Amino acid sequence: MTESTDKYTTETVTWVHTWVPHKLFSFRITRPASYRFTPGQFSRLGVRTRNAQGEETIAWRAYSVVSSPYDEELEFFSIVVPDGEFTSQLEKLKPGDPIFIDKQSFGFLTTAAFPSGDDLWMLSSGTGLAPFISVLHDLEVWETYRHLIVVHSVRGVEELAYQETIEGLRTHEVFGEWCREQPDKLIYVPSITREPVPGMANARITTLLETGELEQRAGVTLDPARSRVMLCGNPEMVQDLRDLLKTRGFATTRRGIAGNLAVENYW
Ligand code: FAD
Repeated sequence: MTESTDKYTTETVTWVHTWVPHKLFSFRITRPASYRFTPGQFSRLGVRTRNAQGEETIAWRAYSVVSSPYDEELEFFSIVVPDGEFTSQLEKLKPGDPIFIDKQSFGFLTTAAFPSGDDLWMLSSGTGLAPFISVLHDLEVWETYRHLIVVHSVRGVEELAYQETIEGLRTHEVFGEWCREQPDKLIYVPSITREPVPGMANARITTLLETGELEQRAGVTLDPARSRVMLCGNPEMVQDLRDLLKTRGFATTRRGIAGNLAVENYW
């Protein structure tokens, strides 16, 4: 059944990619013709489900857009929450199936929030990487910042999704000649918390920040005057990092005063 209301449209799933079976996957959907977003923003997606009374209803959840604003389709990166109302339905979707999307995009996890700076740090846990893949596809971000540092913390190495995409951007396959003139702009710091993996960090981002390993691995210093920091994912991680960064002179935008920190909690 195809529905379109003032608030949402029905789109079609076009592609599904499993990263870790029954745990992590990405999917693409057709893009409503008039759908606009800024890298870092999120969509509201809807899937059909049944409420406690057994009646058919639509469950809605926020999902960061992975795609670039110029992509023809919209890509998303999802966890599967065991018995989760939304993701237990979402996980079953296959190409050709319908999905609902709110006509608007939302959120303030964008570089527009920042005054200009030298280095853009994107610190994420789990699916919190999603908005940063979109940000990394923004040529303006490449033009504005000297370094783009992506930190992705996961429990197991198999959860390091989008490594090839990041590598493609890092080695300039995406932006080509223009970026080749600026080697080492994109710095990728994966961290595996559950098990040590040769060559990779092995701690939560908070620990990496406290011990100085984060800056050491990135080869860039965190400095409130020059660095702009975005945090996304697990709310506990976001809060702990926020507290730590506060002691180092980082703050979100408040009462019209532009900050050097932007955050997004996933639950
Ligand atoms: P819920 O009932 O919504 O959640 C149950 C519990 O599962 C939560 O209390 C929490 O403990 C855990 N949980 C929820 N989401 C996650 C997650 N992403 N990773 C680990 N544990 C989780 N989720 C994504 O997978 N990808 C995204 O890009 C994404 N973007 C979001 C953007 C925003 C602004 C917000 C607020 C949330 C975002 N989420 C994202 C979370 C998403 O909206 C849902 O919570 C998630 O799909 C689970 O839905 P559910 O109904 O199955 O479980």
